[in-house]
Amino acid sequence: MTRSLEGRTALVTGSTSGIGLAIALAFARQGARVMLNGLGDPAGIAAARAEVAAAAGSEVPFSDADLSDPAAVRAMCAQAAAEMGSVDILVNNAGIQHTSPIEEFPEGKWDAILAINLSSNFHAIKAVLPGMRARGWGRIVNVASAHGLVASPFKAAYIAAKHGVVGLTKTVALEVARAPITCNAICPGFVRTPLAERQVPPLAKEHGVSEEVALADYLLAKQPSRRWVEVEEVAEMAVYLCGPNSGAVNGAALSIDGGWVAA
Ligand code: NAD
Repeated sequence: MTRSLEGRTALVTGSTSGIGLAIALAFARQGARVMLNGLGDPAGIAAARAEVAAAAGSEVPFSDADLSDPAAVRAMCAQAAAEMGSVDILVNNAGIQHTSPIEEFPEGKWDAILAINLSSNFHAIKAVLPGMRARGWGRIVNVASAHGLVASPFKAAYIAAKHGVVGLTKTVALEVARAPITCNAICPGFVRTPLAERQVPPLAKEHGVSEEVALADYLLAKQPSRRWVEVEEVAEMAVYLCGPNSGAVNGAALSIDGGWVAA
């Protein structure tokens, strides 16, 4: 069986959990060499590395770069190029969330979300693009969100950052349009991951309902499908965007949200 990413090298940020881990696994299964990045407890990171290594059939490089620090983003990209020989594919996926009315939104959370969810994408793209141009091939995938296209209350920083990611994606796409390089955004709705599941208990408390009711009536109510998007579904979209048949897809913000932004 031909594997669509055979021989490619990929750096996937925020890949110790959730969507990023699923993308890293899917890339490894398609023959790519993948470098992981993320924060968190060492046992969880070791388990993620072991899982991707088993799928890849080889050791998996890892960076613990804190992407809120531009110098750390640059160092991570340099490490990826040094350890894998190149970065053919960059997936900007790491992200955090904080919900609060804007009057009470902590300034520190605003700064952290803009730094991790938006500015790190800029710094990483700037660092890897010269190598992609020199080798004459590249794929950049930015994991934005349905919240990169539409808003909801209480997520000022996240929504500002994700709209910024969609704008950054379009700009980079235009700058690379004549090269065999593409830059696209994936815009998922609610995906079953720790980041999204953590939003259920506060909603249940706020509305005085059970977590099941909060999930159905306040979170998944946004999605006409009324179900979680699964991480494997998002990973398949990333595999397509980095594979051999997607060269004409450039500057797109691809929704995978059960119909959310169509409503
Ligand atoms: P997650 O919490 O499961 O994983 C987040 C990953 O980012 C982890 O690996 C974590 O270690 C890493 N990370 C967080 N802060 C970091 C930092 N400062 N430096 C380096 N790594 C850091 O979350 P997820 O749901 O898989 O989210 C992944 C991406 O998908 C995010 O950009 C998120 O905004 C986006 N997204 C998620 C959903 C959803 O419903 N889960 C929907 C739309 C978009």
